[in-house]
Amino acid sequence: MMPASPESAETGHDQVLGFTVPGRNARGRVVRMGPVLERILGAHAYPAAIRHLLAEALVLTVLMGSLLKDEESQLTVQAQTEGGIVDLLVCDYRAGEVRGYVRHDAERLSALGANPSLYALFGKGYLAITFDLAATGQRYQGIVPLEGDSLAAACESYFAQSEQVPTLIRVGIRSTAQASVAGGLLVQHLPDGEEGRERLHVRMDHPDWEHVAVIAGSLRHDELVDSDLSLEAVLWRLFHDEREVRIDPGAVLERGCRCSVDYYQGVLSRFAAADLDEMRDETGTISVDCAFCSKVFAIPV
Ligand SMILES: [Zn+2]
Repeated sequence: MMPASPESAETGHDQVLGFTVPGRNARGRVVRMGPVLERILGAHAYPAAIRHLLAEALVLTVLMGSLLKDEESQLTVQAQTEGGIVDLLVCDYRAGEVRGYVRHDAERLSALGANPSLYALFGKGYLAITFDLAATGQRYQGIVPLEGDSLAAACESYFAQSEQVPTLIRVGIRSTAQASVAGGLLVQHLPDGEEGRERLHVRMDHPDWEHVAVIAGSLRHDELVDSDLSLEAVLWRLFHDEREVRIDPGAVLERGCRCSVDYYQGVLSRFAAADLDEMRDETGTISVDCAFCSKVFAIPV
């Protein structure tokens, strides 16, 4: 059903693997982030709970972003709250490039225990998921409350509510002081091969979907982060009883950011001269910082 021989090239870290189970009208993505995750987290001096939160968000961003067919399309995940310890989390994905950051109140965070709940971090928050489709210039945004016990659960409700696509998502994270590994699986049911957004009949209890959801739900967190287990092997463990599983190697991931002196110069060139003067420091320079990279750029304008 799939290349399971040890000689075949198997997928490890930082590459997305797409798959379909045609007999069940299911499709999905599986990914395990390693060095790229560490590169993104390493740009910030975040405490463990925030690293964990951002790792989960990045995996979700990759899983959902890699559903986009067009290379230039972008997916943005934004979690926001008023008055929460985390007031903003932003991640985005485009053509394998992924980035993200979290804005939080370190003092209030330190008063929490080691594994704060989503509610403890955000209070009453919400998650906005935005698909920017390059080919048509269209933008789709769905907003769901940050309920449930994980960002993954909120993403599942986004697909159920905004897209009416039954979706199961699992994320596993293993963090040590040296390195972080985070893996994720997303599976969806698309009956009749439908991939469009307008769907008239939605069934969350289709027997094929129930079957796939039970199987996919049996995946353990440690299997998602086990670097000795290829992504093909993960899928094999889940779906070896299916008649056919098609595998489609997806994007190779990179930590990507669009910040550069040229980029900010272009942004600033659209400001009025008086506004630019206000932004200048005493040496006449305008400094812009990239929240994704924690880097400050001096922009000659
Ligand atoms: Zn940047």
